[in-house]
Amino acid sequence: LEALNGYGKEDKVLVSIRVKPTEAALAWEIPNTIPKSIKLEQQYTKSSATPPQDFRFDEVLTGSDNKSMYNAVARSHVCAAMDGYNAVVFAYGQTASGKTFTLTGDEDQPGIIPRAMKDIFSYIRRTPAREYLLRCSYLEIYNETIHDLLAPPSSSVTQPVQIQGTGANIILTPLREEVVTSLKSVREVLQRGEGNRRTASTDWNERSSRSHSVFRVVIESRERGSGDDNGPPSGRTTPGFRPPTPGGPRLQARGGRSVQTSVLSLIDLAGSEKATSDKERTREGKYINTSLLTLGTVIATLAENSAKNKNDHVPFRNSKLTRMLQPSLSGNARISVICTINPDTSAIGESTSTLLFAQRIK
Ligand code: ADP
Ligand code: MG
Repeated sequence: LEALNGYGKEDKVLVSIRVKPTEAALAWEIPNTIPKSIKLEQQYTKSSATPPQDFRFDEVLTGSDNKSMYNAVARSHVCAAMDGYNAVVFAYGQTASGKTFTLTGDEDQPGIIPRAMKDIFSYIRRTPAREYLLRCSYLEIYNETIHDLLAPPSSSVTQPVQIQGTGANIILTPLREEVVTSLKSVREVLQRGEGNRRTASTDWNERSSRSHSVFRVVIESRERGSGDDNGPPSGRTTPGFRPPTPGGPRLQARGGRSVQTSVLSLIDLAGSEKATSDKERTREGKYINTSLLTLGTVIATLAENSAKNKNDHVPFRNSKLTRMLQPSLSGNARISVICTINPDTSAIGESTSTLLFAQRIK
């Protein structure tokens, strides 16, 4: 593995690899021993058609430092979202390779979601000339069914979220969106979603590795008015400020001042491993493979269209995940894909296929 560092502001997709510290390094809290460069021997790569020994990516990250990881592969996407661009960050990899550690993290090492929210609130504080409205939603896609994790578990099962509309005008309904005004309220929303997710699953480990979880923040802002509007008496976010349809045009004239809308989506994907049990092979495994495969094709096509100024068909409609994300992936959207890898030799097959996925979308 080698970092290329060729990601320019104009690049559509940032593809990085994150190698989890070895079990020994984690158990003994010894410094990480994974070198920045890993050579994958030919004997481990099943396909002779692709010579994948020379993988090169925008970033190769090792160790447990979530702060430097965030700064390298997510921060600029969060800033882009604050500037009005749609942005999506994905964690892709086999189960136990570090996707949730990367996105959610733990007490010592908060991951991308808490760091992004912290940055968003400080960005808002630094921008007193604009007023902001932040709305969070939290979804799970399991067996090609979208569940609203902020709805009571019973209703999220009986009333799955539907995708309506086409192209840039996708609406998710019914979907709860919580207005958040502080890190504390974000934490509450996350905890509620996480709790509902656990309640809804009879086998938590199984389900969490077989489903995609999507944390979304709709960011709306407009220039602070001079008094003729119903602006906030205090604070920066305005619960009374009516939002335009998510995924609609970025700028909409309202009351003479334009509203800027963007969506930041932070996504913990289902485990990319091949199906192991019969049950998975028949149902869930099939759905997961289809949706991860479609995601790869969609991102690869978007990157290619953007780099070569082409207009090839993008198969958004082939999975719920890509269909739901269509407005967030097209146009000027910024995408970061963090591919997590388990360094154990027993995982070499899955690690290789993760590297091939990463290479395909770069
Ligand atoms: P996944 O979500 O891909 O299934 P997890 O994020 O749950 O994997 O990681 C599996 C285990 O490895 C967890 O105990 C997690 O804390 C640990 N882990 C993963 N990546 C790292 C890392 N970069 N540094 C330290 N611990 C890690
Ligand atoms: Mg996980």
